[in-house]
Amino acid sequence: MSYKGTIERYKKFLPVDDKTPIVSLLEGDTPLLPSARIGKELGIDLYFKLEGLNPTGSFKDRGMSLTISKAVEVESPMVMCASTGNTSASAAAFSARAGIACTVLIPKGRIAMGKLAQALVHGCKILAVEGTFDEALDVAKALTDKHSITLVNSINPYRLEGQKTGAFEICDRLGEAPDYLVIPVGNAGNITAYWMGFKQYKQVSITSKLPKMIGFQAEGAAPLVCGHPVEDPQTIASAIRIGRPARGDEALAAAKESAGFIDMVCDDEIIEAYKKVARDEGYFCEPASAAAVAGLIKKVKSSEIKKGSVVVCILTGHGLKDPDTAIKVTDEMVTIKPDLSEAEKVLFD
Ligand SMILES: *Cc1c(COP(=O)(O)O)cnc(C)c1O
Repeated sequence: MSYKGTIERYKKFLPVDDKTPIVSLLEGDTPLLPSARIGKELGIDLYFKLEGLNPTGSFKDRGMSLTISKAVEVESPMVMCASTGNTSASAAAFSARAGIACTVLIPKGRIAMGKLAQALVHGCKILAVEGTFDEALDVAKALTDKHSITLVNSINPYRLEGQKTGAFEICDRLGEAPDYLVIPVGNAGNITAYWMGFKQYKQVSITSKLPKMIGFQAEGAAPLVCGHPVEDPQTIASAIRIGRPARGDEALAAAKESAGFIDMVCDDEIIEAYKKVARDEGYFCEPASAAAVAGLIKKVKSSEIKKGSVVVCILTGHGLKDPDTAIKVTDEMVTIKPDLSEAEKVLFD
């Protein structure tokens, strides 16, 4: 049996033809892990989609495979993105794979260490912008408008086309769409893409129902909840530290059309959920992903998400992306001499 990436697996639902060169790292086909404890505690049938198990450790790879393939198809000399980290890691990896030049603009000092390491090691050009993600994106837009460079942020429609394959996989696995799809929201591309995917699968009768789309932003970076842009967004969850979401209107429309909603959670709730997923489920996700779990827990408790429902929560990125946060929010370890009785004292006293 041969391995296939997202484009080959879902070709007939994607804007590709036989002439499109396929740039793939065999992304997608990520596990839908049944919850061991949190689902039972909440009284729901809960699954986690482990998007951190994509080749670069986040869901961004789904959209990047198609986006870079299309850039190669039109012989673009360079691709570019602004990024809170995961988009740049993915763009860097897929560009390396394609052999195409790549430049990423990152908000200086505000991206997680693992993501920075990825961009560096894949050999793309990195511009560290002294400003926010939104300001970096403004520069990337201006550059790509003026020069013949392809912008690969989620403004690029191929990103969403590729990312909708996550919804396909969930339906293929469960036999139909879940009752609720719970997902963190930053630039709002992913919630928009999932909604597109579910609707497309309903059109061709692969699923008979559509999920309610439930999105969560971080309290200090919640423009879609507050109803206005946030100038200097703040949250520990750097992947969703975005004040002017590029796909904000579509995300709000997805929530509304599906009878879902977009709400927010604070950093304390995010960190509590982040540790709970690691400790109760055995899976290490990044803080932004935990925003969805934090929101889910709150909304089942408030009965806005009904008990007994089938819920899929998208764990968007891998915890190893951001080791600094893991170390910062957990207890210090105990230091001992290499001595049996000292070890016993710490363990059993
Ligand atoms: C990009 C990202 C998000 C936010 O997705 P959007 O499409 O920007 O809303 C959430 N979590 C992680 C880990 C991400 O990399």
